[in-house]
Amino acid sequence: TRASSPLRLAYVDTRFTTIKLKAEDTSGRLHLITLQLKAQYPKEAPECWVDFPIPFAVSWTSESSLASVHRQFLAAAESLKSFWDTMDELDEKTWVVEPEKPSRSATMRRIVLGNNASINIEVDPRHPTMLPDCFFLGADHVVNPLGFKLSKNIHLWDPTNSLLQNLKDVLEMDFPSRATLEKSEFTMDCGICYAYRLDGAIPDQVCDNGKCGQPFHQACLYEWLRGLLSSRQSFNIIFGECPYCSKPITLKMSERKP
Ligand SMILES: [Zn+2]
Ligand SMILES: [Zn+2]
Repeated sequence: TRASSPLRLAYVDTRFTTIKLKAEDTSGRLHLITLQLKAQYPKEAPECWVDFPIPFAVSWTSESSLASVHRQFLAAAESLKSFWDTMDELDEKTWVVEPEKPSRSATMRRIVLGNNASINIEVDPRHPTMLPDCFFLGADHVVNPLGFKLSKNIHLWDPTNSLLQNLKDVLEMDFPSRATLEKSEFTMDCGICYAYRLDGAIPDQVCDNGKCGQPFHQACLYEWLRGLLSSRQSFNIIFGECPYCSKPITLKMSERKP
């Protein structure tokens, strides 16, 4: 292990109230600690912001200094090493479509599986190699078999292996990288507005026709189906035809997740 890196100042404002410290953990990851010094400093603890997936509270006494904040930060960062190793492996070896630029605090990833399907996972920062909360997005005929494999193989999950390795084992598949996957195998953009993001929403409605599989935004598909003479609505479900392949498509209107 390397000796802990020296305390480095990255930024300080003219009134010396906001300070940014640079920190490098033992894995060589660079972090920024933002501190706001109070009027009673150093008697009163500074306020502290870090890009962590878990809360970080500084323990502060009248003898504390910026160096002790730095030390506590590095100790906390060390406990997150396994989490960041896990997320870095996903970001390097798979095609992550969400978030676009993951921060060090981001615990969620949406990963491309091919065939216009993806898996959404929520990783526990304290237990990153345990089975994460997950759900699949895509056409039923693609994601149903994956869900079946997941429940069939769940006993194979081994927390001493990496999260990516476990996902490969239980889903019995390799994750395509962005470089190897033909663009035609995964269309991310909405087939109606041709955009990926629309008011923060992603195209999560997928045509269930195996030969089509075109994704749409819920709002775009809603507008499209409402405009069709042939469409009909029953409670919160709208039945109509896919704009691409003209096969039947249903849209279940749901509250958008925050
Ligand atoms: Zn759209
Ligand atoms: Zn279709």
